[in-house]
Amino acid sequence: MRIGVFGGTFDPPHVGHVVVAEDARTRLDLDRVLFVPAHVSPFKVGETGITDPELRLRMTKAAVRGRARLSVDRIELDRDPPSFTVDTLRALRTRMPDAEFHLLLGADQWASFGRWKDVGEIGALAEIVVMARDGRDPSDVDPGFAPGMHVPWRSVDVRRIDVSSTEIRERVRAGASIDDLVPPAVVDIIHEHELYRAASAANTA
Ligand code: ATP
Repeated sequence: MRIGVFGGTFDPPHVGHVVVAEDARTRLDLDRVLFVPAHVSPFKVGETGITDPELRLRMTKAAVRGRARLSVDRIELDRDPPSFTVDTLRALRTRMPDAEFHLLLGADQWASFGRWKDVGEIGALAEIVVMARDGRDPSDVDPGFAPGMHVPWRSVDVRRIDVSSTEIRERVRAGASIDDLVPPAVVDIIHEHELYRAASAANTA
């Protein structure tokens, strides 16, 4: 089994996530891509206003519903935060000892990769696959590795979809439509729970 591991906060998931996951899956001939919502990203510890993890999980499941080879894994939600990718990959390897893992990340994440926990071990547990984002070519990005550190990686071509969760949250706050940017089932959950409206903090962790 060739498995893509696609981590993120997914607050909320949007069409960019779905399109790049499908493109990477096809190009890398992956059997499955696991979306892995973070309990708390190590880079967002202490941040307020992040939507409750179970609700982000629900939205992520809604985003991939009906897509045969995309699924959502709650592995990070069942572990105490912060959600380190190396711990997730170790656990996935224990659960699926014969699988081959491919860690999918956008060029923006690659730019901070040198600061992630145990990057050498991440590179040993999974093939690191970087996807262009906002026209940013992965080879133009400096991951900021410590001197002497070398971690093998590759890039993969995906369609360019310039959308971010930040933009979605801002559009909701401003009363603008998000219908073309977020799968319909996710739009329903956002409205049902009145997410991303400035005054509401009821659904945040
Ligand atoms: P935010 O705006 O809140 O930072 P985001 O849109 O970057 O959110 P995340 O959940 O942080 O979404 O992203 C999860 C993963 O998906 C990351 O590896 C990120 O680089 C990648 N990603 C998100 N949107 C895109 C996109 N439009 N094109 C390519 N990669 C993307």
